[in-house]
Amino acid sequence: MADDGKRSLFSGGRSGSKKPAGEGKDALYSHEAESHGPIKIDCARCGKTTDVSILDALGRLIRFSLWVPGRDYSHRLVCPACTQRSWTRLRLM
Ligand SMILES: [Zn+2]
Repeated sequence: MADDGKRSLFSGGRSGSKKPAGEGKDALYSHEAESHGPIKIDCARCGKTTDVSILDALGRLIRFSLWVPGRDYSHRLVCPACTQRSWTRLRLM
């Protein structure tokens, strides 16, 4: 008896809280995929500015990490626009 009550309470609470959480995550993901990310990469080579997500920018920094402080274009990474390893400037919008 006690076990039955516990089970129905558990499954009821679970299905009630799971649905809105899943929908919220889906909405957030599709929104992120549609509009580009908050980071802008200015490329000194091709002169273009590309919007990327934070994950994209981090991936580029991790793979080709060269950072020279004190200069305008201080990050050397592969530019999304010209796909060349270039000096770039990262801006967080
Ligand atoms: Zn470029």
